[in-house]
Amino acid sequence: MSRRVIISGNWKMYNTTAEAKELVEGLLAGVKDLGEKEMLIFPPSIHLKEVVAQCEGSKIQVGAQNMYFKEEGAFTGEISPTMVKDAGADYILIAHSERRHVFGETDELINDKVKAAFLYDLKPVLCIGELLEDYEAGKSKEVCRNQLVEDLKGISAEQMKQMVIAYEPVWAIGTGKVATPEIAESIHMSIREVLKELYSEEIAELVPVLYGGSVKPDNAAGLLVKPNIDGVLVGGACLKADSFLGIANA
Ligand code: PEP
Repeated sequence: MSRRVIISGNWKMYNTTAEAKELVEGLLAGVKDLGEKEMLIFPPSIHLKEVVAQCEGSKIQVGAQNMYFKEEGAFTGEISPTMVKDAGADYILIAHSERRHVFGETDELINDKVKAAFLYDLKPVLCIGELLEDYEAGKSKEVCRNQLVEDLKGISAEQMKQMVIAYEPVWAIGTGKVATPEIAESIHMSIREVLKELYSEEIAELVPVLYGGSVKPDNAAGLLVKPNIDGVLVGGACLKADSFLGIANA
């Protein structure tokens, strides 16, 4: 079966308003040639509304990089699912490795955020991935399995039809050490095995599993050609329209 192919970019904490506008202009100029591939960008939340407005009517879909799981309240510095929705975004990035490892998000909190995404009609892109020490100890699949089991608690098969998973080995993020297509493909297959075990073969086959970690225009094709790699989540290389479009066209 053919799954969706999603080329996504996480801007992290980069880009002023003017830089954001220029980047989106560059992407809009190239996105028409993408065919069936989808493009999804995650700007900092302060730019969400403007980026959504700029992308309206185009093929570019927009999501927020993070949110809290409550609708409102005394949670200084956080944004809510309703605010993300109100800004016009359709997607929400959940559990990016920097959220897990810089900001200490636990699987329990991540599970609350996944539930909140569905409650407020946002489509989650759930990030999972192992640390270097786990990779070196041969525990990549085990770590990813545990994260999926914990993060997806209480999520129904129907909800899973809207889910996107991003496998991002922490040792490959921002380090220039991309996982080989063979390593990534093998972990992606194991992720599908877990989805089959938790849900069904249908869900395992349906859910797009993206790879993230030092993806660049010159290594994207080797990853995207693998049958179980349904797209990419790009950090550094999505900050320039040329390089992000280079990945998208790989
Ligand atoms: C990311 O931030 O999700 C990421 C994969 O970063 P980079 O592409 O820079 O490794």
